[in-house]
Amino acid sequence: MPTVAVEALTAYAARIFAATGAPAQEARTVAEHLVGANLRGHDSHGVIRITSYVERARDGAIVPGARPRIARETVSTALIDGGLNYGPVVATYAMGIAIAKARETGVGVASAFRSGHIGRVGAYGEQAVAAGMIGIGSVNTPGTRIVTAFGGASRRLGTNPIMVALPTEDPAAPFVLDMATSVVAEGKLRVAVNAGKAVPEAWILDGDGHPTTDPRDFYGAGGNERAGALLPVGGPASGYKGFGLNMAVEALSGLLSGAGSAVEGARGSNGVFLMALDPERFAGLDVFTAMFAALAQHVQAPPLQPGVDEVLLAGEPERRALRARNAHGIVLDDETWKQIALAAASVGVGPIEAGITP
Ligand code: NAD
Repeated sequence: MPTVAVEALTAYAARIFAATGAPAQEARTVAEHLVGANLRGHDSHGVIRITSYVERARDGAIVPGARPRIARETVSTALIDGGLNYGPVVATYAMGIAIAKARETGVGVASAFRSGHIGRVGAYGEQAVAAGMIGIGSVNTPGTRIVTAFGGASRRLGTNPIMVALPTEDPAAPFVLDMATSVVAEGKLRVAVNAGKAVPEAWILDGDGHPTTDPRDFYGAGGNERAGALLPVGGPASGYKGFGLNMAVEALSGLLSGAGSAVEGARGSNGVFLMALDPERFAGLDVFTAMFAALAQHVQAPPLQPGVDEVLLAGEPERRALRARNAHGIVLDDETWKQIALAAASVGVGPIEAGITP
């Protein structure tokens, strides 16, 4: 399993995206976004996506370099046509617009259609927090169905993540809740398949709607030929909550933007909802962060359950991964690295020259 130094991997990914026709700065934005996801422990949204991004650019589903444009706006809202550019380019632009509007009016909402896959949604929350704002967002994937309705037995919805990012007293440690509304992201099933491991009960159903712990059943590659489905967050007990959130994400992301819902739309694209709120227009940023610090101390105080050392707040697991991976580089499995090399070769980029330990 190769380990690749962070800057070497970022530069290599940027070369690949540039070779698909992206201007240098945009190629770098996409590369930094994907490597940023690996760094934060979300390998399913990291450089493993290079292959599908490059394929989409080749098929014309992504148009590198297309300029996102505001299709309609008011002082506090913007509807953005992403032009089919790479998602991280469109979403970074969209959150930039939301922040600028929030500076003017206290709240800015950007809704984008014709956007590529935007990756780790928390990144755009961190963009808002860096500007002293609260960031809220969600994305759907029009036309994609891998999650059941609550009580349903087959694929109906996407994994539809929802995100809330809050500034805190420590600018390096914002609260970033960034979660799929399915019980887990699909990438975790792929990881379990590759590792030959069972998944916990209440994650998936097989193609006949029966509970299973064999992740291959999700892909129709286990005992059942029909593809199974992921359950909404909350599982059999309270999955109606995850299902409700998932539907809300469909509406906020796919319907508000016109990008489409699970019923229709261009597969592989994202409907995007991003919002910035300026705490200064409410009780004030200092009041907000001081009260948040007290709240954090309150919820993290003992007693804790047996075997639990500490209560973590959302965003902390990612920061811990970031510290470790920044120091040691990013470990990629052989299959992922092989696929990246093939994607690179398909756009005329040769093997990585430095920064890799086999
Ligand atoms: P996850 O389950 O690993 O984490 C969800 C949230 O819980 C995070 O905010 C994390 O900080 C927090 N968390 C994790 N462990 C915790 C603990 N012990 N205590 C307190 N908080 C904890 O994430 P996920 O749901 O698998 O989503 C992974 C990524 O996939 C996200 O970045 C999401 O944006 C992305 N995603 C993107 C798309 C898309 O179409 N662009 C679709 C689905 C998911």
